Amino acid sequence: MPSQSNATFNFLSSINLSHLLSRSASTDFISSFRSFGNLSDWTTKKEKRDTVNLTYGGGPVISNVEVTPIFYDASTRFQPEMLNFYSAITDSVYMNACQFPSSHLTSFFLLCRLLKSFSSVQEYSTQTQLIGRGKLVGSYVETGTIKGNLNDANDVRPYVRSLVEQGILNPNSNSYYPIHFTKGINITTSGGRSCVNFAGYHSAVYTADISGVDWTAYGVIPLCDDNLNIMLHPVSHELAEAITDPFPESGWKSRSKSVGEIADLCNWVGGQVVDSTGKKWEVEPVWSNKQQKMHFL
Ligand SMILES: [Zn+2]
Repeated sequence: MPSQSNATFNFLSSINLSHLLSRSASTDFISSFRSFGNLSDWTTKKEKRDTVNLTYGGGPVISNVEVTPIFYDASTRFQPEMLNFYSAITDSVYMNACQFPSSHLTSFFLLCRLLKSFSSVQEYSTQTQLIGRGKLVGSYVETGTIKGNLNDANDVRPYVRSLVEQGILNPNSNSYYPIHFTKGINITTSGGRSCVNFAGYHSAVYTADISGVDWTAYGVIPLCDDNLNIMLHPVSHELAEAITDPFPESGWKSRSKSVGEIADLCNWVGGQVVDSTGKKWEVEPVWSNKQQKMHFL
């Protein structure tokens, strides 16, 4: 069992949409948070896991993720590295080696199963959606007002909506917007405070009234440590979970045990992916239902 300090918190984040929308909506939406554990032991935690099965909640997954990182401050560290990472990792085995044209969804789905080539996040394809490779599609650097303290409901969600409303972001069903913060900027949620209680989270904000998609998936990545390899853990973790459970708990999640989403079972375990150029990237491993083990150790 993970220690108290490394426990993963999945809990309800009550969203009051009434301050965002002209029509009221009472939606309880679940945000998935990861804890900010003891960073000194993150490379050594490879304890055996109990049998765990992630189950599918019937909601959408992201088929071919299109990542647009948002740097919430021009001084945000590791911007070039993040662009390189998202570009490399979305076109790597972290997604899966199999790619499929959507027009041949069923036949390719069956072919892939026959070839037993499912691995990593593509294992979590659904009856109607295959998860394949994705890409980096752009980035955005905030040059306007920068807040030092942001609350998820009061600041982060309205901020994402404002970018959509301004046309800076044009989300589609594959879009994922991880927001990277500079060191010292604090984000709070009902689950606590960045770099104290969590190292990142992903969620989605209602955008049906201002865009072509009902919900827009975003991530929050505070900079807790000036170490790129440590930072790549929450970065890859939230990416994998945004793909497999973009609207938290409607996608893939363990429902029988309190271990959460695909990467929560591998919190702060050292993993590695080699990209198509041979470059090695530090990542959070992801859980395989099929193999009952972590990938990318
Ligand atoms: Zn997680």
